Amino acid sequence: MNPLEKLTAAFERFPGIGPRQARRFVQHLLSSPPSARNDLARLIERLGAEVSQCKKCYRWSTKSDGRGGLCSICGTTRREAGVLFVVEKDADIETVEHSGFRGLYFVLGGTVPLAAEEPEHHLRLRELLARVEQDGSEGKLQEIILGLSATTEGDHTRMLLQEKLLPIAEGLKFKITSLGRGLSTGSELEYADPDTIQNALNSRQ
Ligand SMILES: [Zn+2]
Repeated sequence: MNPLEKLTAAFERFPGIGPRQARRFVQHLLSSPPSARNDLARLIERLGAEVSQCKKCYRWSTKSDGRGGLCSICGTTRREAGVLFVVEKDADIETVEHSGFRGLYFVLGGTVPLAAEEPEHHLRLRELLARVEQDGSEGKLQEIILGLSATTEGDHTRMLLQEKLLPIAEGLKFKITSLGRGLSTGSELEYADPDTIQNALNSRQ
């Protein structure tokens, strides 16, 4: 493969990008000035050097934002440590933050497709259970909010998590809730507005 084909193939691996869009990206880069291409290459390089994944919630943040491998949310004592909001992806955290939620988060990294035989290949199930067991046994955890999208996969994932978390919750005495009504069917958490999320939080059960 020549560099053109290689770069096209690389863009095709991006979520939601097909071969045609990938070729358009490459054409765009070819017609951009060399300085713009260099800037982009440097930004991509800096991702590795300056951005890291939080050891506790697994979201990505700049190393200068957090401390000791933790992001700015996990690294502060000014949050309600007893409430853990489980989300699918990093972008969901930004949305939930606008609703005024002040607990902590855990990023699952995806949802489980209906036919999946090994759910742990699709999300951080092991890591979530470890986090919950640790927080729970230290007496810190009061509630886990399952903040999944109102989609078929989101529902499926929520049921799976409930099944796995319930035995731990009974032993360590915390409750498991889900966002209540308000999120319209088929909608992803990321695109919900702050009021909708606040309503869904208030009506959680
Ligand atoms: Zn964190």
